[in-house]
Amino acid sequence: MTKRIGVMTSGGDSPGMNGSVRAVVRTTLNSGCEAFAILEGYDGLVNNMIKKMEWADVRGFQSEGGTLIGTARCAEFRERNGRLRGAKNLITHGINGLVICGGDGSLTGADTFRKEWPGLLSELVAAKEITQEQQDEFSFLNIVGLVGSIDNDFADTDATIGCYSSLGKICESLDTIDSTASSHQRAFVIEVMGRHCGWLGLMAGHRKLGKRKTVVIVAEGAHDEDLKHISPTMVKDVLAGAPLKLDTRITTLGHLQRGGSPCAYDRQLSTLQGVEAVKAVLAAKPGDPSYFISIIENKIVKKPLLEAVASTLKLAEAIKAKDFEKAIELRGPEFAEYYEAYKITTATDQPGLKLPENKRMNIAIINVGAPAGGMNSATRSAVAYCLARGHTPWAIHNGFPGLVRHHRDKPEGSVRKLDWLEVDCWISKGGSEIGTNRDMPSNVGLFATADCFREWKFDALFIVGGFEAYTALSEMRAARKEFPPFRIPMVLLPATISNNVPGTEYSVGSDTCLNALVSYCDAVKQSASASRRRVFVVETQGGKSGYIATMAGLAIGALAVYTPEEGIDLQTLARDIQHLRESFATDRGQTRAGKLILNSEHASATYTTQLIANIIKEESKGRFESRHAIPGHFQQGVTPSPMDRVRAVRLAVKCMQRLEAYVGRTGEEIMADENAYAVIGIKGASVVFGSMAELEQETNWKDRRPVSEAWLANKKIVDDLSGRPQVP
Ligand code: ADP
Repeated sequence: MTKRIGVMTSGGDSPGMNGSVRAVVRTTLNSGCEAFAILEGYDGLVNNMIKKMEWADVRGFQSEGGTLIGTARCAEFRERNGRLRGAKNLITHGINGLVICGGDGSLTGADTFRKEWPGLLSELVAAKEITQEQQDEFSFLNIVGLVGSIDNDFADTDATIGCYSSLGKICESLDTIDSTASSHQRAFVIEVMGRHCGWLGLMAGHRKLGKRKTVVIVAEGAHDEDLKHISPTMVKDVLAGAPLKLDTRITTLGHLQRGGSPCAYDRQLSTLQGVEAVKAVLAAKPGDPSYFISIIENKIVKKPLLEAVASTLKLAEAIKAKDFEKAIELRGPEFAEYYEAYKITTATDQPGLKLPENKRMNIAIINVGAPAGGMNSATRSAVAYCLARGHTPWAIHNGFPGLVRHHRDKPEGSVRKLDWLEVDCWISKGGSEIGTNRDMPSNVGLFATADCFREWKFDALFIVGGFEAYTALSEMRAARKEFPPFRIPMVLLPATISNNVPGTEYSVGSDTCLNALVSYCDAVKQSASASRRRVFVVETQGGKSGYIATMAGLAIGALAVYTPEEGIDLQTLARDIQHLRESFATDRGQTRAGKLILNSEHASATYTTQLIANIIKEESKGRFESRHAIPGHFQQGVTPSPMDRVRAVRLAVKCMQRLEAYVGRTGEEIMADENAYAVIGIKGASVVFGSMAELEQETNWKDRRPVSEAWLANKKIVDDLSGRPQVP
């Protein structure tokens, strides 16, 4: 049985590694086992730098970039003799479960270590370094991998811990360079990391290209079809030479890409995967293969390490053999889709993509509800797709009221054809460029709305928005029997910070919101550093859904999260105050940062955020302070996060493909087709279209959220990792 679990970070450091260390240590302790940190990667394993870890040792870890338990490149571990010493050290400490967070090199090393394990033990027994009893007891080495890498270069997982933080840094730099590039009409060649994998470059590219400027992104390991290295200087020479003669500069982002505090997504991913890794260690039986923890779309899954290491190596071989199609295939379907979406949405004049005249549609695009980061990215890529295929993209300005208000007097103001030059620069813009509004078709008149649809000859409708958008879609579907202009295919791309739209586990904009909230909470926590023993009660948005509060709680390590789903009662408050008392009493000053409670704005009508803070203060009897803080609209963020941008691009392209498939269908046929009115969503490991007919049955209309919410299970993880006692 596994009793002692070690955790190690290895290879290149990546933001989020600390979050996984915290999750592994605390989940280990919660499971009644002892936790150890192997310091400085394999170097610590070979040279016996192993430290016992307690609950408080990892306090505040998930806000910190890099790795706090150290990492190193270790040549000794590449040799059998080094691994032999590593084996001895593990056995001496009684560690028989190991979680290793690192890149492809580290996990390849882990795989080798495990394969050799029985042989290593026999050798140690023969050399009398360990006893026969020890060999029997430790006959099985239980290793679980976590992929920590900024390059996103490991097979069988969509994301690695750290890649989105790094992408965030790159996008920030690119946004900065963009403004200087367009001011001077310059060209920039930007080198980004990625020795063997172009993920960072490709994703960052989703937000490039303009008319006053030229930005070319080159991955460190970029090469041509003959595998000849492409350096930034070579690209510069092309741009600066005839015929372009552009004033061209090179910027190498270098180690800036590694650094900084992890983004919300990496904190969540590292925490959830860390918990899963310990579960996998505890569940392993002798003879089982080694696993690593992966994420596919939104689902965290345990996968065999051996196969993933093999695929990762195969990929490198495919590139060596110049089989690039195979290489892209091995990178997984998500990468291939992003690559396709990128190609379609950056070059809109590819004759090969144009549809014949009779297959071209008038596609209307509307934003409904509150603005959310990524809405513009979705609109932009829908427009790009339409132009590439020969459809006409019509923007409806300011939602349904915008459509109807100007209908009679000023029709040209309400609906407008969008062109590429206009939308191209929208990708990094927050808010909604075409304007959004909360009002429903029923508020402005179903008849008037339908009449506008008829007048503009819309063949299809692409809706981007949150729960209001969902309700609007439901209204139009219901009204299609009475109003023939609604008998067109309609698809909704959920975009709302609240992430409360049925049919998806992720809404565009929710990641931007979480990043804003995480920065806010980090600042609030830090402000307490001057006066220790302070509790902040932070109020989050999110409507009647506790998603934002819970996921932010996971990302910052909140002491408690109050959600509308659970509500608040006196017993809960009393228990949490007691927990606070105990936790302050045992605080040996490991961190001076304050403690945080997150309260969803609609968790309770009675216990407001301020009241909760006051109650805590009163009950602390002077032993600690309590304050409340309300970030409000700050939570909508400024620039959309990379994840919201790239997912908006990819999902919008899928929506367009779906609408396009309905060309030539009659109104009668569409009316009878349940799938003609749909919501695109990420559910578990897949991207799916849900039909409104079905989704409406799964909707809690009163509380404006799905009847069952997939993220609810994360609530318990927040509690477990903060040591919050459960109400019996
Ligand atoms: P990353 O894990 O980020 O890809 P490296 O490739 O540098 O980083 O690997 C980190 C460490 O993992 C190396 O310094 C070495 O100790 C170990 N390692 C890497 N590849 C192997 C291998 N094939 N066999 C044994 N150990 C390895």
